[in-house]
Amino acid sequence: VGFQSRSPVEQYLHDLLAQIATNTEGTVADYIPELAKANPEHLAVVVVTVDGKVYSAGDADVPFTIQSVSKPFMFGYALQEYGLETVLKKVGVEPTGDPFNSIVLDDVNNRPFNPMVNAGAIAMSELLRGENHAEREATQMDFFSRFAGRKLTMDQTVYQSESDTGHRNRAIAYMMLNSGMINGPTEEVLDLYFRQCSILVTARDLAVMAATLAAHGRNVITGEQVISPGNVRDVLSVMATCGMYDYAGQWMFDVGLPAKSGVSGGIIAVLPGQLGIAVYSPRLDSVGNSVRGIEVCKRFTRDFSLHAYVDR
Ligand code: GLU
Repeated sequence: VGFQSRSPVEQYLHDLLAQIATNTEGTVADYIPELAKANPEHLAVVVVTVDGKVYSAGDADVPFTIQSVSKPFMFGYALQEYGLETVLKKVGVEPTGDPFNSIVLDDVNNRPFNPMVNAGAIAMSELLRGENHAEREATQMDFFSRFAGRKLTMDQTVYQSESDTGHRNRAIAYMMLNSGMINGPTEEVLDLYFRQCSILVTARDLAVMAATLAAHGRNVITGEQVISPGNVRDVLSVMATCGMYDYAGQWMFDVGLPAKSGVSGGIIAVLPGQLGIAVYSPRLDSVGNSVRGIEVCKRFTRDFSLHAYVDR
């Protein structure tokens, strides 16, 4: 293989990672042993434009489980299949100020506060279509694959571990069963949620998925319209207010883009009409966001003036 020169954008991303790589703050998620095995040094950034150009640096092809970055997409699925009115009976759009795994429902409407917390995501899992559990599993994997533009698979070991230890999520689901928010069979609904968290993606996949949101729901690689532009608007709105755990407000202030993070260290951010960004670095801060991931996004959006509320 001969010398390949980097494009100016890739050179920029490469230099950015080199600067940020020295930051070793934070700790890898260890609520299940499988996640604790992640290589803390892995670091990737990928930017994909709405016309399908891919700019990457670092470990862009290292697979990891999608975890909570799946939640906005699953909300998009629910909106696409059932429409806003029905979905809003199951989940609100209000930030909680509580941790992602809080066991609290909105007592006025009896709903989970939003689809980015576990309660809301589990309520969405029940909406997967299929005659039986196997069909619903297939529906889920097919939907995420259509967003990524390639056939995705699941990490069997992480899934097993999520399922074996997910007692708090069980408590959340059974509380919703008790209040009639889900109808069950509860273990099957939970199983779909654990599977969803365990889907394997790379930073490249997540950037394509983010860019597909930026492209108003049209996959930037395959051209397929995965969800409608109106549903993308609703997904991005909830990401903007609830996507970054208890850092959502500060994130909007600093970075200014709708985003979602997950405990395995992935973050996506979306600049509507232009591009999707994905970063991967497993060390997390105290609220559960990737330390270096946040740093990459802050610098990238500042250097290119991408904050939604900046004069461009
Ligand atoms: N599987 C994790 C849970 O439900 C996902 C957490 C996350 O990424 O926020 O606890």
